[in-house]
Amino acid sequence: MDELTLLIDLYKHAYRQGPGGDSETKLALGFCGLDPSKPLKVADIGCGTGASTLVLAKELNAAITAVDFLDEFLEILNKRAIHAGVSEKIETLSCSMDSLPFEDEEFDILWSEAAIYNIGFENGIQSWNRYLKPGGFLVVSEISWLTETRPSELQKYWDSEYPEIDTASSKISLLEKSGYSPVSYFVLPEHCWMENYYNPLQKSFKAFLQRNNNSEEAQAVVDAGIVEMELYKNYRKYFGYGFYIARKTG
Ligand code: SAM
Repeated sequence: MDELTLLIDLYKHAYRQGPGGDSETKLALGFCGLDPSKPLKVADIGCGTGASTLVLAKELNAAITAVDFLDEFLEILNKRAIHAGVSEKIETLSCSMDSLPFEDEEFDILWSEAAIYNIGFENGIQSWNRYLKPGGFLVVSEISWLTETRPSELQKYWDSEYPEIDTASSKISLLEKSGYSPVSYFVLPEHCWMENYYNPLQKSFKAFLQRNNNSEEAQAVVDAGIVEMELYKNYRKYFGYGFYIARKTG
């Protein structure tokens, strides 16, 4: 079985596919200061199985387009939306985040948790800008340095995995240069990584390996997950997910 199929099999059973939390989604939304009764158009880009989409649907009077390029995740999102009684507010769109079929100034909010890195933060914030109404909100979580310096082992790991990792001040400066006015920033607390993401993932490894006949490829997926988890446990004071809330200028 190829690696993508294995990754889908591992992650589609998870509540969320990246670090985050329902309370933190609500906290970020709170910074936008929106009237919850106002009809809004929202896109949740790289939504996975919809952890954040469902929170947005419950909190807002919104028509939400939930975008991901994996149909398997969107199918689960649709089932979860029905179960949560918010399916009329959500439309899923199977599409890559670098070729979105949106109109200029179509959306009040562009939301993206733990996903913009797939096309790069700078590319993402610049290419998505035109889909937002002036004054509309961009809310993204992005892996970020928490300190100015860090151990070389950690630097080396991120240089190869995601060289765009940077400090919040650099990310905020990029937002300013790309047509946004920063509104707020906070760092996801540790429980968003451990309790909400890594611990449930770790618990699912055994069943995942059994489902996949303990294949070498499945074991490699688990091993990579363990390396990532250990890296976070050892170096969590140096990096984390920053939540960036900004408004389109103009
Ligand atoms: N936002 C979800 C969450 O926080 O649980 C998912 C985060 S997961 C780390 C990243 C998501 O981005 C996955 O669902 C993946 O399928 C999606 N993704 C990756 N590359 C993509 C692309 N080019 N276009 C659309 N979705 C993409």
